[in-house]
Amino acid sequence: MHHQGKAITLRALESGIVELCFDRDADAVNKFDQLTLGELGEALGQIAADSGVRGLLITSAKPEYFIVGADIGEFGALFRQGEAALLQNLARANAIFNALEDLAVPSVCAINGTALGGGLELCLAADARVMSRGARVGLPEVKLGINPGFGGTVRLPRVIGVDNAVEWICGGSEYKAEVALKVGAVDAVVEPARLREAALDLLCQCMDGTLDYAARRREKTQPVQLNDIERMMAFMTGKSVVAAQTGPNMPAPVTAAKSMEKSVGLSRDQALAVEAKFFARLALTNEADSLIGLFLNEQAVSKKAREWESAGRKVTHAAVLGAGTMGGGVAYQSASCGVPIVMKDIAEKGLEIGMREAGKLLSGQVSRGRMTPEAMAGVLRTIRPTLDYTGFGAVDFVVEAVVENENVKKRVLAECEAVLGSDAVLASNTSTISITRLAQALARPANFCGMHFFNPVHRMPLVEVIRGEHSSDAAIATTVAYARQLKKTPIVVRDCPGFLVNRVLFPYFGAFNALLRDGADFRQVDRVMQKFGWPMGPAHLLDVVGIDVAHHAAGVMAEGFPERMQIGFRTAVELMFEAGRFGQKTGAGFYRYEQDKRGKPVKTPDPEAQRMIAGISAAPREFEEQEIVERMMVPMCNELVRCLDENIVDSAGEADMALVMGIGFPVFRGGALRYMDHMGLAEFCAAADRHAGIAAVYGVPESLRARARDGRRFYS
Ligand code: NAD
Repeated sequence: MHHQGKAITLRALESGIVELCFDRDADAVNKFDQLTLGELGEALGQIAADSGVRGLLITSAKPEYFIVGADIGEFGALFRQGEAALLQNLARANAIFNALEDLAVPSVCAINGTALGGGLELCLAADARVMSRGARVGLPEVKLGINPGFGGTVRLPRVIGVDNAVEWICGGSEYKAEVALKVGAVDAVVEPARLREAALDLLCQCMDGTLDYAARRREKTQPVQLNDIERMMAFMTGKSVVAAQTGPNMPAPVTAAKSMEKSVGLSRDQALAVEAKFFARLALTNEADSLIGLFLNEQAVSKKAREWESAGRKVTHAAVLGAGTMGGGVAYQSASCGVPIVMKDIAEKGLEIGMREAGKLLSGQVSRGRMTPEAMAGVLRTIRPTLDYTGFGAVDFVVEAVVENENVKKRVLAECEAVLGSDAVLASNTSTISITRLAQALARPANFCGMHFFNPVHRMPLVEVIRGEHSSDAAIATTVAYARQLKKTPIVVRDCPGFLVNRVLFPYFGAFNALLRDGADFRQVDRVMQKFGWPMGPAHLLDVVGIDVAHHAAGVMAEGFPERMQIGFRTAVELMFEAGRFGQKTGAGFYRYEQDKRGKPVKTPDPEAQRMIAGISAAPREFEEQEIVERMMVPMCNELVRCLDENIVDSAGEADMALVMGIGFPVFRGGALRYMDHMGLAEFCAAADRHAGIAAVYGVPESLRARARDGRRFYS
């Protein structure tokens, strides 16, 4: 037997054994796309029809990958066909997997690398599994808002037990080989070099009757026997743990548990029908659309960054100007990612703070066992604190992170440029000031751009790379390359005050101020916006960002976009600022902050803040949740559309990714543009129009009205 397809090859080995090897052409990984699925069906048909076959070995030819899962790129088109077509598609896949399980001969999978989703489901349909030590397995479907669809919720509980299966499927984690072996997901774990031999051994055991594979099949195809207590333990406890972990906005994990609860007492084929029904229900939700969309956006963003990176230079000697919150964070991140960095400040005290901050973060790594004390000392040695520019001639990349003041920045940038080599790239971490304006101070504006990190630097994944009017491609490429060296996700945007993220965040803060002016209780606004899905409400967020920082930035934004961002009333933020209530850092802002035993700030209500705000607001009144959501979200969404119109950002996917990574836009909503798509653009415009009288930021951009009129969406 020999067959060479685009995704699968079949070849006869000795003793009647056939090897089915996954090897998708022109791809680094194997995926279960429609083509692969079709070829698998054909290959299994051939094997079943050949009476000379005595056993089946299933392998992958891709180093480090078995099968990474379904082809997520195909989901959109597949799901859009609707429930009936989706059920038909799942029935076809299940028939193919059943054909493997029902072969007249035994089958064994040699899991050489990542086997996720459909990849692991295939392995579960086989009779036995051997896993290479470094490989990973799991059913991560819930992370995309769906449940397994190729029999995972049916076979996994029958192979590893219901309680383990609930944990694996509802948690969506990847598991190491040792864990997979412990719960019985695989039969053996071996060194990579021994994988093939071990899988063949196991297959021979099945063929000679040492391993009763027929008994395994009976267990996999029949109802699971559970008594009431076991059932309650597995599902009641499992479901409530899952619900508590994921919250009401993520329905997939709880739905997957329900699907298993309904199907464990059924035969395989009935159980598969239950799984398919639940799959179709989840696949058509907005949450699934958002999570799948974000996955694809992330891939597109990372591909674009890799393209920039390949045109850029690798940074070997970096420097940061300013050893404050951000400078210290950049120094830590650079040093711990292996790029030595000089950290310059004008004050000894600043340097001490920066070094202390880096030391604290590194000690955290050591105490968590992620780093040895020797490695920590090594990393710290690659941060060189300094008060002057000695050695800057050898530096190839500089991040400027001094105070947010245009004149100071211009002076510092010019001073630094004078001591740098002519090829060195200079990037400003300004939050709001136009890069083109800052470039006016420079002799080589082509070598200058923006590199906007988020606070805290070590934790926030996004870096906005800002292209000023004169920034060269080479400077952008090297900045993207450095961001990737620092393990960040760079998104290249064009210049304007606030760039992309702060430009849309400040209208949101403006909306918040206007709500308070009109008598809303900030605690209610926080509750409603948290329920909407934000990690924290706007008052809490302002306290965390720093009222002083927000107050200053709001001024820059108002100057940049006076027609929309000039606020014509006295705001709560101004009030807090004037009272020195800067938020978390001063112990009081909208809330009061006390430290818990571990030194973490804990937020408590503060009647004083309420009293102050009452002095500048209309009579307090309760707002409908929907009114709060609309009033808060419309300005942000409108401004994001304007950014797209002005090409501040290239694509809807990058815009949404920037909001999710930069300010924690609710993941299950997929970003602001996808949120608008889900709401319906005509409905969004109607909501904006309802509030048009509040301020100019509620005015719907013409392009959005046209899009709504033509029935176009941001994502097709
Ligand atoms: P910070 O006040 O904590 O630190 C600024 C540091 O710059 C201080 O240590 C100061 O001594 C030093 N400095 C001032 N003049 C200098 C000079 N001439 N040369 C060298 N050092 C000098 O401020 P920060 O919060 O780290 O912000 C720095 C920059 O990063 C600002 O542009 C800010 O807008 C931006 N940023 C801040 C955040 C944030 O959340 N803090 C987030 C993103 C971007």
